[in-house]
Amino acid sequence: MMATRIHSTSLRSLRQAMKKEITPASPAGLHAYVIPTGDRHQNEYLADCDQHRQFISGFTGSCGTAVVTDKKALLWTDGRYFTQALQELDEHHWQLMKLGLPDTPTIESYLSKELPTNSSIGLDPSTMSIDAYNDLVKGVQDSGHEVVCCDVNPVNTVWGKDRPALECQPIVPLEVCYTGEVCHKKVSAVREKLIDMQCDALAVTALDDIAWLFNLRGSDIEYNPVFFSYAFVSRDKLVLFVDESQLTPAARSHLSEETKSELDVKDYGQFHVYLKAYVDANPSCRILVSNRSSQDVANTVPKKNSVVGSSPIPLMKSVKNTVELKGIREASIRDSAALCKYFCWLEKEVKSNRNVTELSAAEQLLMFRKNVDKFMGPSFETISGSGPNGAVIHYRVTPETSRPITKEEMYLCDSGGQYKDGTTDVTRTMHFGEATPHEKECYTRVLKGHIKLASTTFPEKCRGALLDTLARTALWEVGLDFNHGTGHGVGAYLNVHEGPQAISPRATKDAGLQAGMLVTDEPGYYEAESFGIRIENVCVVVKKDTRFMFNDRDYLTLRPMTLVPYETDLMLTYLLTADEIEYINTYHWECQQQVIPLLNEKDDTDTIRWLLHKTKVIG
Ligand code: ZN
Ligand code: ZN
Repeated sequence: MMATRIHSTSLRSLRQAMKKEITPASPAGLHAYVIPTGDRHQNEYLADCDQHRQFISGFTGSCGTAVVTDKKALLWTDGRYFTQALQELDEHHWQLMKLGLPDTPTIESYLSKELPTNSSIGLDPSTMSIDAYNDLVKGVQDSGHEVVCCDVNPVNTVWGKDRPALECQPIVPLEVCYTGEVCHKKVSAVREKLIDMQCDALAVTALDDIAWLFNLRGSDIEYNPVFFSYAFVSRDKLVLFVDESQLTPAARSHLSEETKSELDVKDYGQFHVYLKAYVDANPSCRILVSNRSSQDVANTVPKKNSVVGSSPIPLMKSVKNTVELKGIREASIRDSAALCKYFCWLEKEVKSNRNVTELSAAEQLLMFRKNVDKFMGPSFETISGSGPNGAVIHYRVTPETSRPITKEEMYLCDSGGQYKDGTTDVTRTMHFGEATPHEKECYTRVLKGHIKLASTTFPEKCRGALLDTLARTALWEVGLDFNHGTGHGVGAYLNVHEGPQAISPRATKDAGLQAGMLVTDEPGYYEAESFGIRIENVCVVVKKDTRFMFNDRDYLTLRPMTLVPYETDLMLTYLLTADEIEYINTYHWECQQQVIPLLNEKDDTDTIRWLLHKTKVIG
């Protein structure tokens, strides 16, 4: 009730603020205001102070756009969040627009139809990416509507003193023994790319790009070891924009060493001022602005000086060097040992009918990870889903939703850790009693897709959309499928979701896969209100020797980093080919070879026994 009152008051205040937004482009104030889920850096996870959409609507999901007009307040979100949105939105004031359903108009077509012609639609350009902004402008232009970029976000005016402050946690160096390449080498490589692209400078706005470039890590955003900052790289200048109080003495001396004292540190708030001054001083300069930056950056650099396109950093960052790969391998083995310990513990608890819930299990998993060397925190919120909760793809366990884990239901666990030497992301699906034949068939088909993708040979720069098909064919054969991409890139002690590569039906224009990239292999199958299955490993893309080399291209394959056994009890072996059985046996042998020595060090005989049992040769 309390929340409802706050949200209806906020809505009224927002409408008043919209009326007062009188500019040459909006002489009668704003007729609509668009509040996307986004911040100045287009982060996947938002800091509290950037939760504008959540503040105004009350909807806490990670995805959605709110639109407020004179009379209406609407929220667009996708199928993952329909139930949650209906629970959280105040039905007297808010209307849910179900994204992806045939009858749901897009935001653009809704605004085109609902508003009188030549209306003014406001938004905070720092909350929307350049691509999304251009789509919005194009989508409403036929109706004569004007998209107005507000200098001050009216939602912040309403939020006022209650708006949380910007996070400013300490920034620490990541040593070259983890990164494998010092900052000034990375900067030189970026400069070479700028020359190739005939650009003079690059405006860096993505926080993981900046953390990678300077070999620094922070904790301003939950799960992502990044810090609020901007950077500017020109042919002769290197500037980091950051709240200087966040830089620890170690970070300062690291920066002067790794940049050969070339670096200029300026305040976080000075980025836009600096860009403007740079353009004024270099009137014919060409500045590369990533199309994934926020629109406010595009507004700052005049059109004649800006080249909007792909920043070279995501691709450079995605191809891991040998030091990073060694670290990721070691982190994956340690993490796999912790997961084996967890599943061994869980199986024992459930089989002896002790009371264990999705929530208490997730807490225990975190305890096990906390004992792992170099552990810095989880890499995302653990998905711990029993029975029907496993079918909710982005399930978030709460005290209200937490189900007991029992011998009667499938259990899906997707989790990961941040370690100083690597980031992990792994999903396993288990059944601690006797699964139904249907559940087993679905598990086996998901596993067949997982193996098919992992063992395929493909030419370098092969697009992710082509490979995505391989993970689905065993499901398609019987008329099943899953509604998410098959894989994403993973950072090196950075964000668990990283581009530019992806294995997904949508990855038709990406740069393709290259040796040294990390990618997850995570097909699934979800039966609503019943059970969910996902099997996920992080893999590294490696070269493969082939008899021929068509067009002199290298050929590639995947090698798993994750080493946690599959569930042989859930496999219908008659559905598996001899090659698939060999793949499973080889993988399980590798799990034993790599993980048992770590368990031995800790005299963990229980887990060793469990692992040996789970990895028994099948066939
Ligand atoms: Zn995962
Ligand atoms: Zn994943």
